[in-house]
Amino acid sequence: MTRQLELRQVSVNYASFTAARDISLNLETGQIGCLLGPSGCGKTTLLRAIAGFEPVAAGEISLHDHLISCPGFRLPSEQRRVGMVFQDFALFPHLNVRGNVGFGLNSLAADARRARIDKMLRLVGLSAQSDRYPHELSGGQQQRVALARALAPDPEILLLDEPFASLDTDLREQLACEVRDLLKANNVTAILVTHDQHEAFAMSDHIALLKDGELIQAGTPYQLYHDPVSEFVAGFVGQGAILRLATGENPELDRALGLNEGEDPVPGERLKLLLRPEDVSYQPGSDLRLPVAARTFRGASYLYALSLPDGQRILCQAPNHVSLAIGDAMPVALVQRRRVTFRN
Ligand code: ATP
Repeated sequence: MTRQLELRQVSVNYASFTAARDISLNLETGQIGCLLGPSGCGKTTLLRAIAGFEPVAAGEISLHDHLISCPGFRLPSEQRRVGMVFQDFALFPHLNVRGNVGFGLNSLAADARRARIDKMLRLVGLSAQSDRYPHELSGGQQQRVALARALAPDPEILLLDEPFASLDTDLREQLACEVRDLLKANNVTAILVTHDQHEAFAMSDHIALLKDGELIQAGTPYQLYHDPVSEFVAGFVGQGAILRLATGENPELDRALGLNEGEDPVPGERLKLLLRPEDVSYQPGSDLRLPVAARTFRGASYLYALSLPDGQRILCQAPNHVSLAIGDAMPVALVQRRRVTFRN
């Protein structure tokens, strides 16, 4: 595999304000990366630096082993071979689908241009809509036109800035999976910017989670979910509860959590323990019975909030045939495949 994109300790400033600080990131050819994080954490700033719209104050950005940005040097955007898909799709309203997709292909001869547009339309499944104008398309179709337009000039990397944000929630995840399949089938290297972890999980191979301009954790979706380095990551990625415990205070809970086995944690130690909903399972006959404090219907399952004796709550995902009312005692087993604790 070839290294396609490399950010080495990149910082981006707006006047005296540092919006992204010391960010390092690598993507191999064909990988889909994601810049994930809450609003204002610097995702778009980094994407704009990769696209060449913002200069870097420190560090270097390379695309396919060519330096494209460092302090004092910025290869112009139009020479970078990056494709962009924006949140609002930014289609040209006065051009039909063919015109939009062919917009960046003016350097090609007419025949080659036509062939390339046809190929792109087939790729995104819009051959039958090629004469329509953007306002005659659904949101999902407009999104696919934007994708075809960005991919048509065969960019080195595709930058997707919140590309599903203006679509319905249901459509978002479906499209995220479709777009991933399409990019993977064509070995396209891409970076997605989003604040939605479902989108990030559905699309990316590698996630960089940012907060206040800093990289908090980078890894696969699986690593971020199962091995979060901090409470912030655990809370941002996935659901769950962070229990504050002192071992020995509630022997029944300690037993259920397996905390009295071995020396780690030390007896009496205060710790914070991450419990994901799938770590808490409905188990008829279990001695550990916790009252239902709230429940949410999720279709295939219920998400229950259960109260511990000290008032803390944990979440339990149970099949939808397990129907308990608020106040009922639910017998549960706590099955942590891997224990995630945070020290105070
Ligand atoms: P969102 O998810 O809301 O789009 P983001 O993570 O993409 O947020 P950025 O747009 O990169 O965040 O902004 C990072 C920080 O830089 C924010 O504090 C923002 O206010 C600031 N910022 C962004 N653009 C500028 C600008 N042109 N001038 C000054 N500050 C800016």
